[in-house]
Amino acid sequence: MISTPHSLFLVLTVARINSLEGKKKRVPHALAWASDRTKRVSRLRFISQLLFLFVMYYVSIVAVWKGLLLALIIGVTAVAGRFFCGWICPFGFYMDITTSIRKLLKLPHYALPVKLNSALHKLRYVILLVVLLLAVPPFLLGTASLESLYRLVFLRSPFNPYTILIEPLQTPLTPWVPPFGALFAFDGQSISYPYAGEFLAYITSKDVAWVLAFSFVVLTLAASFAVRRVWCRFCPTGVSIAALNRFKHLQTLPPLHIDKEEEKCTKCGICKRVCPVEVTEVYEQNGGKIKTSMCTLCLRCIEMCPYKGCLKLKMGKTTIMQSRNWLETQTRSGT
Ligand code: SF4
Ligand code: SF4
Ligand code: SF4
Repeated sequence: MISTPHSLFLVLTVARINSLEGKKKRVPHALAWASDRTKRVSRLRFISQLLFLFVMYYVSIVAVWKGLLLALIIGVTAVAGRFFCGWICPFGFYMDITTSIRKLLKLPHYALPVKLNSALHKLRYVILLVVLLLAVPPFLLGTASLESLYRLVFLRSPFNPYTILIEPLQTPLTPWVPPFGALFAFDGQSISYPYAGEFLAYITSKDVAWVLAFSFVVLTLAASFAVRRVWCRFCPTGVSIAALNRFKHLQTLPPLHIDKEEEKCTKCGICKRVCPVEVTEVYEQNGGKIKTSMCTLCLRCIEMCPYKGCLKLKMGKTTIMQSRNWLETQTRSGT
């Protein structure tokens, strides 16, 4: 429950945001990026996602190194948590674009009930387990050889089901026609979409596979239009090593994390409302390192928390960025 002073604060905050929205129009367009500090990180993130989309187009040329790509994602996650999800993943970017379109149309989003959101996040682990069991590693069976290692690096049989884990990296345009097929192909280029190729690879009837793949595209885009980052709620690739934090010796992982100073938190609830994957821990946790495997490290909560130093992005003990009194800053700058 939000107490009366907090409700009052929320009303004043919203009123202030609305008044700032009105005044913002006077800022020259070229200066908008610098002046609107409540969107600066989000815009930087957009640039990062766009840049990596181009990078992924070229990486897909050497996509034979799929196993190494997967190892790279896991390695990045070990150091930077789900930074990959917030700042790099192409599928996450597509969902952010649908969210931006919805915002342009001034339509509201739908927030999932907390219990359902939490259940979906737990479901990720089950999906991951199923994917891993689809190819029982020879390493576990004690039959590993150099040949097995080679096959793992290239995600070839029996490890090809693991390609599901790098599907979110699929760019809309690929400079080759994948062996499993694409939604459309022309002039050596192909148009694809995350997971669409998996339908085409595993379902023998091409017509059925194509209908399912196309339905998946429409469904996920439509769902992410209404629910922010909908697929991220149960994506097996997004399973964070935050789960490993439960083990005593691994609690320092990942070193890049969000930290909260409880004394500065007024429980205004802004962090909870702006979070694209509806993480509640930043709001609820009583200070310290935010421990949740749901956080994609998009930093929107730090960007929007209106109290200086209440939320921080830290690498180990070093602060990289922190929340600011952005209402005051904007008032002083006259925007
Ligand atoms: S959870 Fe999956 S789809 Fe979402 S950003 Fe992470 S890897 Fe991409
Ligand atoms: S962490 Fe910041 S945004 Fe979240 S409830 Fe506390 S003061 Fe508000
Ligand atoms: S908790 Fe903050 S950084 Fe994490 S996903 Fe939510 S808004 Fe982004």
